[in-house]
Amino acid sequence: MTVRVRFAPSPTGPLHIGGARSALFNWLFARKNGGTFIVRIEDTDLERSSRESERNILDSLKWLGLNWDEGIEIGGNCGPYRQTERLSMYCDYANKLIEEGFAYYCYCTEKELEEERKEQLKKGQMPKYSGRCRYLSEEDINEMKKSGRKPVVRFKVPDEGIICVNDIVRGKVEFECEGIGDFIIMKSDGIPTYNFAVVVDDHLMGITHVIRAEEHLSNTPRQILIYDALKWEVPVFAHISLILGPDRSKMSKRHGATSIEQYRQKGYLPEALVNFLALLGWSPGKEEEIFSTDELKQLFSLERVSKSPAVFDIEKLNWLNGYYIRNSDIDYITELCLPYLKKAGYVSDKATAGEIEKARKVVEATREYLSYLSEITEHAAMFYEDIELNEKAKEILSGEQVKQVLNTLKEKVSELGHLDEETAKKLLKDLTKTLGFGGKKVFMPVRVALTGQKSGPELYQIIDILGKDCLIKRLDRALEIV
Ligand code: GLU
Repeated sequence: MTVRVRFAPSPTGPLHIGGARSALFNWLFARKNGGTFIVRIEDTDLERSSRESERNILDSLKWLGLNWDEGIEIGGNCGPYRQTERLSMYCDYANKLIEEGFAYYCYCTEKELEEERKEQLKKGQMPKYSGRCRYLSEEDINEMKKSGRKPVVRFKVPDEGIICVNDIVRGKVEFECEGIGDFIIMKSDGIPTYNFAVVVDDHLMGITHVIRAEEHLSNTPRQILIYDALKWEVPVFAHISLILGPDRSKMSKRHGATSIEQYRQKGYLPEALVNFLALLGWSPGKEEEIFSTDELKQLFSLERVSKSPAVFDIEKLNWLNGYYIRNSDIDYITELCLPYLKKAGYVSDKATAGEIEKARKVVEATREYLSYLSEITEHAAMFYEDIELNEKAKEILSGEQVKQVLNTLKEKVSELGHLDEETAKKLLKDLTKTLGFGGKKVFMPVRVALTGQKSGPELYQIIDILGKDCLIKRLDRALEIV
């Protein structure tokens, strides 16, 4: 069997962490099995759907690297891939179900349904549609039509019986027909409901595995009934667990950023997010936590997706992201840091080669302190802005040897021709040799005079980045107060 899976977002908001994880699991499953990954837009909720959300979702998927083989924007043999462009197909299958006695027109008004619900509740029954319109006579129907009522189409759910969902993640899950009630498959405006459209599309698109969020498990028996009525093969289901916040309640805005776009803006790397999302509910069966996308493609399997909810741990994401920031190619990380440095005014919009070279050195010197890229500006500030010598700095500069240290360094800097990391290292070595004090007595005041801080990047990096003029300026400034 050739695997065909899909991600079918409703474009009612930006791509969320949960949606991205569903997309990723589908994508990994397709890649692992040499299958096809399809992206389809489920926009039948006309009021809440927007092209703007669709754009955001597709851009976020692309940014994460989750490319699709068939679907929206790129087409394929099973298009169109936006549900509102497939309305006639749903209509045809709804008619077929009506003709074959699996579905019927229902003319009940909202008001009548509401009364029915109230009545059932009063009797202590679980509210569900009574099936009143199942048995309308020809005459009744004509009467309804004449009165101008617009019907919906309902699926006739068997009065009894059990529907079994065979789920790869959750095992066998059984649902009683009795609790379901005849559900709507087509609304009165000719728009299908989710449960109907999803079945028609999954069938027509040849979907073999439906991998989606746990919240859709309770919809699955309805979908299976439709598959059976149309004599279509039921796909394999895999419902993946909820994502919880650290307090173990469902992940939501109050736990922090929820959309992929927000993480992108803050400076998380796509490869770190993919690594993190993969481990939200799936485990490779070994201790390691760092997996490249290529490794994930090799290792992923639905059998190792956990039934229990996954907890979103931002500390872990920060740690992973920091790992990728430290270990990725320096030019790549610099490129990604440039927008933040530009926004802070440290690099001009049309960055010159010199500015980029300096930025690269700044990134090299500071990236070990970053959990996400937007933090670069606070660490880069000392290379672009005047530094402040606060009380603590002044205290360090008040040491009796400091004047001599700074003056000697200033002399050596003035004598320098070319300055780079190597000459900076040599300069520092020379300095301690000339002074004859221990390293600490030399390096701490130099660091404080040059950066205003007691810790930070390597001194030779700082010296190289600041350059001769700035070094002399900062040394002069510190010398004024020693
Ligand atoms: N449009 C549904 C959603 O966004 C997709 C559900 C499914 O994958 O079947 O939740």
